[in-house]
Amino acid sequence: MYDRVREADPAVADSLDDEVGRQRETLAMIASENHVSPAVLEAQGSALTNKYAEGYPGERYYAGCEYADEVEQLAIDRAKELWGADHVNVQPHSGTQANMGVYLAFLDPGDRILSLDLNHGGHLSHGHPANFTGQTYEVEQYEVDPETGYIDYEGLHQLAEEFQPDIVVSGFSAYPREVEFERVQAAADAAGAYHLADIAHITGLVAAGEHQSPVGVADFVTGSTHKTIRAGRGGIIMTNEEHASEIDPAVFPGGQGGPLMHNIAGKAVGFEEALQPEFEEYAAQVVDNARAMAEVFRDQGLHVVSGGTDTHLVLIDLRDSHPELSGGTAEEAMEDCDLVLNANTVPDESRSPFDPSGIRVGTPAMTTRGMDEAAVSEVAHLICDVLDDHDDPAVREEVGERVAALCADYPLYEDL
Ligand SMILES: *Cc1c(COP(=O)(O)O)cnc(C)c1O
Repeated sequence: MYDRVREADPAVADSLDDEVGRQRETLAMIASENHVSPAVLEAQGSALTNKYAEGYPGERYYAGCEYADEVEQLAIDRAKELWGADHVNVQPHSGTQANMGVYLAFLDPGDRILSLDLNHGGHLSHGHPANFTGQTYEVEQYEVDPETGYIDYEGLHQLAEEFQPDIVVSGFSAYPREVEFERVQAAADAAGAYHLADIAHITGLVAAGEHQSPVGVADFVTGSTHKTIRAGRGGIIMTNEEHASEIDPAVFPGGQGGPLMHNIAGKAVGFEEALQPEFEEYAAQVVDNARAMAEVFRDQGLHVVSGGTDTHLVLIDLRDSHPELSGGTAEEAMEDCDLVLNANTVPDESRSPFDPSGIRVGTPAMTTRGMDEAAVSEVAHLICDVLDDHDDPAVREEVGERVAALCADYPLYEDL
């Protein structure tokens, strides 16, 4: 595929080819990852990467924006249709940049953010000390109930009343259950705070009606465009007409320069694909697959956080079943068998965040390959086999062979 890259730069061409090979020959279960279509890849590799288009469609600071305008408007219109939002900004370079746009528009330094603890499934951009949010704003965090694994909505409500935040953030990176946005909204209302619903992980599930929507509930809805919605790397902000005039200038010129127009073309194409009826089937299968895997894990005696899943991901706490095994060791053993997942913190984490007690398993990418419940159940059994005998080379070899066979049965990027 990369013939012209190869002519100009064989070293990079080798890495690009190897990466396609890696994606074909491994099962991606990192819950935030997916495989975009060849059409989205092509749009992202288009000549729009050359174009400066500071401003918004029809109001640019540069000449020659006719086609950039067309593409950005298509992305906006399709996003409005997908999520039912009044106003959409498709320029954030990533989900983190989308959150930054909201904070820049509506918070002053020192203002207060109430968000879910990272260890409990939150995100760096929700106020972690290593992120600008933790350094710029005052942060208080709510948690999930360690017994049930569900958000402690009452605790959140009480914290909101005590802490009086300026913004409450919902939406998570490692939370397997449906988020009850109305209850978060009630907590925000109790404090007179804004509500930012960050649906980075579940954009596709919300678009397809597989997860309740915060659009029309929360003041702001942000997301990444490369996770369950397969529209290529980037971010998005949705809001109502009332807040629109403050969001747009916070994204540009507030926090960014020229938009990545080639990525916006990718978003437009990915959103068009998501508007097709097949996308609803895809999203439903993503959730069915996650449920099927959770069932296998439970039957095999693993501690599935919250007892199951309503979404695209399953979180496993290894401490009960495999007390000697850290998430990091499990991740490495799996990767050796071409099962690519990540170590993750779990509620009530007792190890270090660098080598936590859990693993997170996501189904969006495997479902894109066409895998159904039967296929992912086999994968779940393979994961259990590796957990049980993680340092047995014979087990690793056997599992690796089964993974290779599954990858061949559910091929990826055949005509790249
Ligand atoms: C992935 C994610 C983001 C954004 O991540 P980017 O890598 O910046 O796109 C934001 N919030 C949550 C909850 C996420 O999971």
